[in-house]
Amino acid sequence: MNVFLEQGWSVFLILGMAFMTLEARFVQAAGIKTADMPTSMSAASPVAGKRICLDPGHGAGSSGAVGPTGLIEKDVNLREALLLKEMLEKAGATVFMTRTEDVDPPLLERAKFNKANKTDLFVSLHHNANAQNDSSMNRTETFYHWYDLEGPSEDAARAIHREMEALLKLPNSKVYMCWAYGVLRENSYPAVLVEPSYLSNPEEEKRLRDENYLRSIAGAYFRGIEKFFEGGRPEIKLDEAIKFADDGVIQAQVVCPAGSALVARGDIRIKVDGQPHYDYQFDTEGGALSIYLPIDLALGKHEISIAARNVAGNTSFVHRRFFELQKPIVRAEAKQIPLFGGVLKDKVIVLDAQGGGGEPICVAPGGLRASDVNLKTTLCLFDYLKQCGASVSMTRTSDKEMDNVERVAFGLMQDPDVFLTIGHRMPEPGMGEKPGTFATRFGARWDGGTAIGKAMAYQTRKMLGTGAELGNINSRQPLPTEVHNWSSWEAMHAAQRYTALYVCPMMFDAPGVEERLSQTAGCRKEALALLYGLLANFGLEDDKMSTISGVVNAPSGAPAPNALVQLKDGIVIQTEADGRFEFKFLQAGKYEISVFLAGFKPAKQEVEVGDSGETAIKIELKP
Ligand SMILES: [Zn+2]
Repeated sequence: MNVFLEQGWSVFLILGMAFMTLEARFVQAAGIKTADMPTSMSAASPVAGKRICLDPGHGAGSSGAVGPTGLIEKDVNLREALLLKEMLEKAGATVFMTRTEDVDPPLLERAKFNKANKTDLFVSLHHNANAQNDSSMNRTETFYHWYDLEGPSEDAARAIHREMEALLKLPNSKVYMCWAYGVLRENSYPAVLVEPSYLSNPEEEKRLRDENYLRSIAGAYFRGIEKFFEGGRPEIKLDEAIKFADDGVIQAQVVCPAGSALVARGDIRIKVDGQPHYDYQFDTEGGALSIYLPIDLALGKHEISIAARNVAGNTSFVHRRFFELQKPIVRAEAKQIPLFGGVLKDKVIVLDAQGGGGEPICVAPGGLRASDVNLKTTLCLFDYLKQCGASVSMTRTSDKEMDNVERVAFGLMQDPDVFLTIGHRMPEPGMGEKPGTFATRFGARWDGGTAIGKAMAYQTRKMLGTGAELGNINSRQPLPTEVHNWSSWEAMHAAQRYTALYVCPMMFDAPGVEERLSQTAGCRKEALALLYGLLANFGLEDDKMSTISGVVNAPSGAPAPNALVQLKDGIVIQTEADGRFEFKFLQAGKYEISVFLAGFKPAKQEVEVGDSGETAIKIELKP
């Protein structure tokens, strides 16, 4: 009896702590200063109440890597895991250890132990050695399994890897999807395996003998795990056996658990037979997802996969199902009215997210990789362009390595109106470029580059508030260093065949840029600026059209960041730290604006605008 009571009490405590965490985060998200809250709440960590399994690699007869002067991996792994355990427990997590002493449970036993404890995360801790006896080799490698590709394991791997990269700054570090590693393959997910550094490197071995160094590595694990749990994760409800009527519409539900961030249209990832599929409707408020299967889908067996990412950047598990199409799909094609007067309708646009895989292009001081930001901004822009009726495609849709020749070849096959590479980088020495500003480059033989470069420069500067160091930010003409030729880039050599442009919406090194671009809100804003640049390039004039600008406030009056702002039946953007948003290039008429933020009632406001000028609105959220 006593035992039961105690168990019941501990469950209650864990739930209570989890609630406090969410509450505290949510209040922070609403822009209320944490100083106004009781310390116990503001101090709550996102790991409070989570069940985490730590797996120090090797043990007993399996020593793992051995350093040049004899330091043994199994001991380093265990020491790090014990330090990390202490940090996690202090923050309110329940930690399960596959070993706490010098023993070597079989890999499958370790995985089984994790599964039996129904944990929220499994982390296997290792250090690497170079198999070719190259003692100079030293880098961070983080692994997740293919079984959870593009799911929470990948999120966890990236979150931990980013903190490790920021701490150790080892060149050529990389996150890997793997097939092998039984401890990941036979496990439940999310699960990751981390090799922070190479024990076979003599200097690294020396550092790994220092308890403080091990503590700093444990600290990087801890911060990565915190980031992984911050913002919660969406869930998808989908029948085990896929059902649909003759119209070929599959229904699913996206659930955002209480206290976790919301999911926006454009952040749903659907694949049919492995190909990205964008014909769907999503209701942000209720979470209903209707997927319209391709009308010409062949009879027989098919596979569909569905996942969703919330605005905190966390992904649901990917749900994969096989289904059989027995009768042809009969459905009236929905008539989609393209946005912005259809000026981009049927324009062929290829989006190219620079870098990927082992090529980050550049890494910000906090470990944010330019290649990841490029992809996020590209995916947002892709969704906007789809809704504008453009015929749009992407050179890459995931974090994969791709050489420039392959990208150019892909571009040639599409015969595009615009080939747009999205990149982020540091200012180039000797070019006079400034931190944080916009830069674009276009093909030497393509005159159109100047016009689109100008449009992009102006819209991006206005939207993102960059470029003050370069001159008058209201200038319709490009400011110094904003627009120039780039004859050495492969895509530019194809510019006689198609129109190619590289844009860097914001340099990576300005204060605050990393923070802005770590949030989906920052990437969405960049994507919107680039969309405005394209609209201007294809003939719309923002000064002869209407603008709705607004600010979203929490009930306290403080600006509400990360709120989703949706133009009725149109694009979804997000507020940044200042709570502001802006829709430009609007024709005269009535527009409904809906605002969603976790923890508040959805707010709707109808706005009527004339032929031109700016209409300012204020939206107050209610609990
Ligand atoms: Zn190992």
